[in-house]
Amino acid sequence: MAKHSLSTQGVRAGTVRSQFNEHSEALFLTSSFVFENAAQAAARFTGGDGGFVYSRFTNPTVSMFQDRLAALEGAEACVATASGMAAILATSMALLKAGDHVVCSNAVFGATVQLYVTVLVRFGIETTFVSPISVEDWQRAVRPNTKLFFLETPSNPLGEVCDIAAIAAVAKKAGALLAVDNCLCTPALQRPLEFGADLVIHSATKYLDGQGRVMGGAVLGAKGPAMDAVFGFLRTAGPTLSAFNAWVILKGMETLEIRMLAQSERALELARWLEKQPKVSRVYYPGLDSHPQHALAMRQQRTGGALVSFDVKGGKEAAWKVIDSTKLISITGNLGDVRTTITHPATTTHGRITPEARAAAGINDGLVRVAVGLEAVEDLKADLVPGLG
Ligand SMILES: *Cc1c(COP(=O)(O)O)cnc(C)c1O
Repeated sequence: MAKHSLSTQGVRAGTVRSQFNEHSEALFLTSSFVFENAAQAAARFTGGDGGFVYSRFTNPTVSMFQDRLAALEGAEACVATASGMAAILATSMALLKAGDHVVCSNAVFGATVQLYVTVLVRFGIETTFVSPISVEDWQRAVRPNTKLFFLETPSNPLGEVCDIAAIAAVAKKAGALLAVDNCLCTPALQRPLEFGADLVIHSATKYLDGQGRVMGGAVLGAKGPAMDAVFGFLRTAGPTLSAFNAWVILKGMETLEIRMLAQSERALELARWLEKQPKVSRVYYPGLDSHPQHALAMRQQRTGGALVSFDVKGGKEAAWKVIDSTKLISITGNLGDVRTTITHPATTTHGRITPEARAAAGINDGLVRVAVGLEAVEDLKADLVPGLG
């Protein structure tokens, strides 16, 4: 499928038909698989003949999901996981051991920070958090025992853009692997492996499903020891993607490219409109000419993505007024849905960190985040008008 365009791959890559020749991907609800004889069973368990063994390892529906996502990311290998966090856990457990050091962007998903500072630290893994936009910071944080660089670009909620190629070069020199969480762009908008990343991580819960239905995740990269170790961890520890969720996400991926482009188009128009609102002091969207890293964003990404954040004059009270005045947009912390959502990061997604840490991260009390869906942009603007009045 490599010669086909992204749209075609999203619809067709990875499809394998059973003896019934079904047109749509089949849902294989089975925990285990039957062997012809003892010799075949033995060969399967050593991974020799590539056939299915047990759905903790993989399953035909999960395998179709893995192959489709690998085609979209331009990766040789993909391991599906139960959630995005399971993908990050599997990557960390597979590649790190006690005494190792991680350099991580300070603008990654909240649970990712928690995983490193509350869980992995107990197993002797130390993490240094650095600015996503300062390549010098990444360089300075390197230690002899640094094994992994981890970043997310653009960041959520402020849309800061990491220079993947420059950070990949620092990682390579340090002998560390670079993992990029590509949840916000998806391969429809950005393919980190092309810029030198070693691993790509996904929360399939977000745009890959795209309709807010199921949890899922994935780790992708070149065939070799790192991906073998990720699969080895999954097979042993079991944070496996369910076949049902894989089947739902496969359906979502069929419309991934058109959704990402349509949601980005609406996000750009909304961002431009927000820039003109007197009550709005700043808009954060990498697709805007006014974004400090607009040129870099447009080199790495096809569009600015679907996440728009803005500062409302008047702090928390004014931000809450914007949120509480909406009637159409859903008040929820989730993103990646065709339904537009709105949230107040300072008191929700970033509510657990100290006010000082929040300020350092640039999360103002007046900040509002909108994850733009597929509704008509005129209706979204009309929904925001009362709160901005
Ligand atoms: C949601 C999210 C995750 C975690 O994914 P889950 O599927 O919720 O476990 C990781 N990274 C980013 C950028 C996310 O938005």
